[in-house]
Amino acid sequence: MKLPDYIVKLKPYVPGKPIEELEREYGISGSIKLASNENPIGPSPKALEAITGALKNLHRYPDGSSYYLRKRLAEKLKVSANRIVFGNGSDEIIELLVRTFLQEGDEVVMPEPSFLMYEIMVQAGGGRPVKVALKERVLDLEGMAECISSRTRMIFVNNPNNPTGTIVSRDDFEEFLQRVPPEVIVVLDEAYIDFVRDKTCPTGLDYLDGDKIVVTLRTFSKAYGLAGLRIGYGVMKESLTDPMHRVRQPFNTNLLAQVGALAALDDDAFLEKTVSTVHKGLDFLYREVEKLGLRCLPTQTNFFLIDLERDAKSVFEKMLRGGVIVRPMTEYGYPNHIRINVGLPEENQRFVDVLREAI
Ligand SMILES: *Cc1c(COP(=O)(O)O)cnc(C)c1O
Repeated sequence: MKLPDYIVKLKPYVPGKPIEELEREYGISGSIKLASNENPIGPSPKALEAITGALKNLHRYPDGSSYYLRKRLAEKLKVSANRIVFGNGSDEIIELLVRTFLQEGDEVVMPEPSFLMYEIMVQAGGGRPVKVALKERVLDLEGMAECISSRTRMIFVNNPNNPTGTIVSRDDFEEFLQRVPPEVIVVLDEAYIDFVRDKTCPTGLDYLDGDKIVVTLRTFSKAYGLAGLRIGYGVMKESLTDPMHRVRQPFNTNLLAQVGALAALDDDAFLEKTVSTVHKGLDFLYREVEKLGLRCLPTQTNFFLIDLERDAKSVFEKMLRGGVIVRPMTEYGYPNHIRINVGLPEENQRFVDVLREAI
C-alpha cells in the first residue's frame, strides 16, 4: 500500500501513560501520577453531578451545536456565541484548524520544544512544520516572525508554553503580531491560562476584533479537571468558524462532555480551589526541591521542569519503582530534565521523598 511520504515519516505522540498501564508494566501499585499536568483535586463535583443526571439520556445524540454550553461560555468570555468552536479536546481544534485552512506544502511556524501535537497534526495534514528553537526556554517571537514566508499559513504560540512553563509578555506578543501578515492565522494556545500569576501575560481574546487573525484555544482538561471527558474550544473570527463547522463532525463533542463542561464553568469554588492548591503546591515543591540542590525552572503553569544535571531517564525509572510517575523530557530535547505537575500536598511530599532517594 502506498502511503503519503509525510504519513510514513510521522513520529507517534508518546503520551503520559495511564496509571493503570504503568502499574501493570512495572508490577507496582498505589502509585501517584504527576506526569500529564492533570488537575490534582479531581473533577469538579458540580460537573460530576450534572454528568450523573445526564446518564439516562445516553441513547440520544448530543446537541451538535452545544447550544447551552456555547451560550454560557459566550457570556462568561464576553464574546459572541458564533465565534466559538468546540472540539473533542482542544487537540481536535488544532486538527480542525489544520484540516480546514492548510493546503499540502503550506508552512506552519511553531516553537520547539512545545506541545507535540502541533507538529504531528500539521505533518499529518500534509503541511510543513517550521520549528523555531526557544531562547532561554522562552518562545523566540522575533525568530518566529523572521521565519514567516509567502508559504506560511499558520503560527502556533503556546502561552504559557508546555513543557517550559514560560510566557511571552503582552508587549512582545503585540510587537510580534505587527509583523504577521493579515492572512496568516496566529493560534494562541492558552491551555494553562488559569494558572498564570504574571500580570504581563496577554490573552488572544483581546485581539479577536483586531486586523490580524488570532485564534484562542482553551480546554476543560486542566484547571476544570475534565481531561477524561475530552472537551476544549477555540474562539475566533466568524469568517473562520463557518468553514470549520462544515469540516467538523456534527457530533464531535459528546453529550456528557457538554453537560459536564457547562456545570464546571459555573463551579467557581472548584476553580479557585484548584488554582490555590496549585500555587501553594508550587511554592512548597520549589522550596523542597531546591533544598536537594536541584534547580527548578520558573513556571506560570501547574507543572515545571527540574534540571537533574544527569540523565533523567534513569531517575525516572527509579522514581517509577518508588511509585511516583513523572515525565522525562528526552523527547522534548531536554535529556537532563523531568517535568512534574503539582499534586495534592501528600503527593507533593511523596514526590520529594522519592526524588531524594532517586538521586
Ligand atoms: C493539555 C494541553 C492541551 C489540551 O489538550 P486537550 O485536548 O484539550 O485535552 C492543549 N495544549 C497544550 C499545550 C496542552 O498542554
